Formats: sequence, structure tokens, C-alpha cells
Amino acid sequence: MQTFQYQQSITVDQAVQAGARSKTAQQFADVRFIAGGTTLVDLMKLDVERPNQVVDINTLPLAKIEPAPGGGLVIGALARNSAVAHHPVVQRDYAVLSEALLSGASPQLRNMATTAGNLLQRTRCPYFRDTAHACNKREPGTGCSAIGGHNRMLAILGTSKDCIASNPSDQNVALTALEATIQVQGTKGGRSIPIQDFYLKPGSTPNRENILEPGDLIVSVTLPAPVPGTQSHYLKLRDRAAYEFALASAAIVIKTNGSRIERARVALGGVGTVPWRSREAEHVLEGQTANAATFRRAADAALKDAQPASENGFKVELAKRCIVRTLTGSTQSA
Ligand code: SF4
Repeated sequence: MQTFQYQQSITVDQAVQAGARSKTAQQFADVRFIAGGTTLVDLMKLDVERPNQVVDINTLPLAKIEPAPGGGLVIGALARNSAVAHHPVVQRDYAVLSEALLSGASPQLRNMATTAGNLLQRTRCPYFRDTAHACNKREPGTGCSAIGGHNRMLAILGTSKDCIASNPSDQNVALTALEATIQVQGTKGGRSIPIQDFYLKPGSTPNRENILEPGDLIVSVTLPAPVPGTQSHYLKLRDRAAYEFALASAAIVIKTNGSRIERARVALGGVGTVPWRSREAEHVLEGQTANAATFRRAADAALKDAQPASENGFKVELAKRCIVRTLTGSTQSA
């Protein structure tokens, strides 16, 4: 583990100024913000992350969960995953987010992990976490050990010839289905980023995972006001029932009128290089009758561009069944 300087920020501006001194973008910045530390400290111990300076932002006033001025909910960047999952408004109006958070990690980790940290969670690709192996994400241009290696857990959507790492987060899949926006404070002021525009597919630069620049600090996430009559649900399929990452997961936000689907939002986890929104599935669902045939057509549409690697072809059918089962559960309780 590389030695580093530790600094505590008292204000958001101080944190932004400290972060802006980084010469590289956030994913491997030499100045790193730390909150819960549930990913960063692990990766520093593994020598994967090697910041010169760690800026502790835990004292910033960013942990509130409160109504948004125009309706909806603002979740502070430092709100702990457990606080969000058990918040009564989240449980009532955004069940998909509560279910997703409670399906992730362990109670101890959820008590430490924050909303913003979860947004920036790094892949669990085994080669990324082991500096003995080539990895384009960790060391651009060195190659990808997972293509042709152990890739059972990795992505089948949004991959490139340079990286097939999956995004490991459950929270981010739910936030994608909820069409959340991310508020960021940077050296040039604040801005609001729809989650759909936040993540970058690997392409030829897998080291770049999102659009944040040095100094950018996530301050909150806003959930839009729920559409009346909407149901939402998260289903995660994995190798064991707890403390495990998704092989495939689905977040559904859906509104039906009788048996007709009026509105649907579909996002997938465990299968995409980014939290994967499927507009193809939504297009199939909207205006159609909620039944098994429609759900299967939506699932087929969602996975039509899947490109499995040597060990993860099973994810194609698994993800389809995950979508069908989540849609079935979401519409039966409507
Ligand atoms: Fe690295 Fe991505 Fe390849 Fe994994 S899949 S070894 S993270 S380049």
C-alpha cells in the first residue's frame, strides 16, 4: 500500500478545491475523496488505487434525505445505504431502491457505504483487483485478462474488445429505472446529470468509467416524484442468497391500467458494463397487455444485443427469466 496524505474537508468548496489538484480523472485520481471507504480502502490495500492524498468528506453536511422542492426526493451523497433503504418515503414510493440496497453487501457494509460511493463502486473483475494480471482498466494498453480468462461474472451487454467488466452495483440499477439525476459540485459550479448520461461504456478507454472531472464532488441524488399508481420491484439472481454480487438483476418501474401497461422503465444489473437501461424492453411493454407473452418479448428485446464471453453465455437466458419474473411480480401486485 502506497503512503498518502490525509486531509479532512469541512466545506464542500474545500473538498472541491482539494480534489481539483488531482492530475487525473476520478477513477484513478491521485487525490481521492473518502466517505464510507468500503471500496477505496480495499483497493488501496491491494495497490490497485494509489492516491497521494485522501480527502475525508465525512464531516460535510451531505447526509440528509429530504423532499425535493418540486416533488420527489433528494438523497444526500453521504446518506448511508442502510438509512436510504429503511427511509419510510423510499420504502413507500421507491420500493425498487430499498429492495436493491437491501440485496447488496451485508448490514455492516450498508451501514458504512454511502449513496455517492455506491454510484462510484468499482468492478469486481478478479483481474482488475490483482496487479499480477494485465488489465486495460487498471493499466491502459496492457490487455484484458478476462477475455479468454475467467469471465463467468462479467458483462454481456456494452462490452468492447478492451474490457468486459460488469458494473457491480444494485443501487445504480434501481436509480437508472427511477431516472434519477446526480448533482455534482465542481470548480465551475454545480450541475445536474441524468444517471443515463453519467456512466461511460468501456470502448477503447475502460479506465474512464464516468464523466466526472478532477474536483467534481457528488453532493446528492434526486429521485423524480413517483407517477401515481406506479409499482416498482428489484430482483437479484446470484450464486448464494446473501453477500454476493448479481449474476443478473432487474429493476422495474411500471404502471398498468387494468391489464394494459401504460408506462414501463426497465434496468438490468450484473449483465452490463454500466447500469443497463433497456429502452428496447420498455418499447415492447408500453401500450401492451401485461401477460407472459408480452414479458417474454420484452426480455428477448432487452438481450438481443448480448455478446457473451467464454464462460457467461448462461447469463442471456438467466437475465431474460429475471426480467419476466420481475415484471410478473410487479404487475400481479398492482
Ligand atoms: Fe480489466 Fe476490464 Fe479486462 Fe477485467 S474485463 S481484466 S477490468 S480490462
